[in-house]
Amino acid sequence: MSAERTYIMVKPDGVERGLVGEIIKRFESRGFKLAALKFVQADKELLSKHYADLATKPFFPGLLDYMTSGPVVGMVWEGKEVVKTGRKMLGATNPLDSAPGTIRGDYCIDVGKNLCHGSDSVESADKEISLWFPEGVVGWERKLDAQIYE
Ligand code: UDP
Ligand code: MG
Repeated sequence: MSAERTYIMVKPDGVERGLVGEIIKRFESRGFKLAALKFVQADKELLSKHYADLATKPFFPGLLDYMTSGPVVGMVWEGKEVVKTGRKMLGATNPLDSAPGTIRGDYCIDVGKNLCHGSDSVESADKEISLWFPEGVVGWERKLDAQIYE
């Protein structure tokens, strides 16, 4: 069993639209393990660090406005290949390119309102988890793991 972790975040539109539970449910049902969860109104300073690699993009100012337009739900999910699998569960960045069955493919249309974030690599996940959860995350043993992993 793997202790790989990813940072998944429900963006302000997802919170506003009442999709927090739906997004959590998909990760829970898949068998991933919750390690941290936080409801937070982020500021532009935090989001500039989170999206530092996009700082020169034309859509960056709009992205910061979007991401500070309301609270977000940040989570850490743990499990085998959870980074790559989490991205698949979210769908493509542009929701219109997202397959039905993915979160974006089922619930949204525009790239600037695409509901959720997921780390794109194990390295990004480590950075994002330290940024959003500087206090650390809960390490816990789940008895159910014996029914999920062979
Ligand atoms: N984004 C946007 N316009 C674009 C590309 C990205 O508004 O043309 C936003 C969108 O919300 C996306 C976020 O910026 O989720 C981060 O972009 P990235 O390329 O990292 O996509 P992601 O990793 O979220 O799929
Ligand atoms: Mg990204």
